[in-house]
Amino acid sequence: MGNSIYADHAATTKLSTLSYVNMKEYLLEEYANISQPYSFSRKSKKAIRDARETIANCIGAEPDEIYFTSGGTESDNWVLSIFSKKGITTSCIEHHAILNPCKLLGSNGTPINYLKVDYNGKIIKEQLRKMDIAGGSLVSIMFANNEIGTIQDIKCLSQIIHSKNCYFHTDAVQAVGHVDINVKEFGIDYMSASAHKFNGPKGIGFLYVKKDCPLTPFILGGAQESGYRAGTENVASIIGMATALKENIDHMEERTLYLKSLEEIILHNLCEANIPFLRNGINQIPGNLSLSFPNFSGEMILHRLDLMGIYVSTGSACDSKNTQISHVLKAINLDKEFAIGTIRVSLGYDNTESDMIEIVKALKKIVL
Ligand code: PLP
Repeated sequence: MGNSIYADHAATTKLSTLSYVNMKEYLLEEYANISQPYSFSRKSKKAIRDARETIANCIGAEPDEIYFTSGGTESDNWVLSIFSKKGITTSCIEHHAILNPCKLLGSNGTPINYLKVDYNGKIIKEQLRKMDIAGGSLVSIMFANNEIGTIQDIKCLSQIIHSKNCYFHTDAVQAVGHVDINVKEFGIDYMSASAHKFNGPKGIGFLYVKKDCPLTPFILGGAQESGYRAGTENVASIIGMATALKENIDHMEERTLYLKSLEEIILHNLCEANIPFLRNGINQIPGNLSLSFPNFSGEMILHRLDLMGIYVSTGSACDSKNTQISHVLKAINLDKEFAIGTIRVSLGYDNTESDMIEIVKALKKIVL
């Protein structure tokens, strides 16, 4: 990375050093296939058991309610597949890992409903309360939005959903490891998570499935994951994921305070510099800043920042003919001149205060 500044932690994060250290042994030495009965697989088997327990403890679940997957996308696709006959209600600001499978399921006859959000990206609870939703179907609402960071009132949503005798799934890919989650307290029936969003390795995640909730196999083959998700276990990555999750949860309080203080530096310095901007979302995930600069192009800002060695993300992309405003910014009804000029700065605990000053300095050069 040299002198560059990575500020796109909602896209992915750097592997934690401790995860790397813990994974190494299972890549180079303890590489046995844990389905084999010989003693060589014993240590890996135990490590997987421990990892499952660690992950379960981190979210207030039981170990046998955790199913390892390849990440958030697979977890989302799996849970939707279980309800392909009963129907699915979801929100219009979900990640495409929910929206695209819903589109396909809908075209194949699954009843799909979409919930609206307000200008902050919050589910309109009255709409959910009044919606005619079939009992036994699934309601899937993301825990925190990946673009604007808005965290939903999960406990309240789960109560409404359960009062309709429906099951509640939350895509918590942006939230797990970043905010306190207790699946039992929040009334969550299914939850998707992905390790690379919380300093674990890429290509590994999990699906939490509450005991006795409907479950059908997703990948058929061997007997792994109790026969529900076949395929030789990715032992090292599972260990890396459990290590990173525990590490993040152990340090959550101090990291949250630190990230909030970094956010403040950016916001304060943007105001001091008299740069017109809007921050999107409410009750955001720590470190998530969706910033709109009216009458600028977010894509142009992204590329100019890139040239200065600063990596952020954008909320809209231009092709040769059109500017495509993201479905999330459209859903919150953001004025077009703001939507087009939106970037997402997402901070991590590796970022420093001087990074924040550099980001604002660079933005000043671009938008003033
Ligand atoms: N859901 C949300 C909210 C996300 O932000 C992402 C990744 O950006 C995903 C799902 C997909 O996760 P993965 O990259 O692990 O497949």
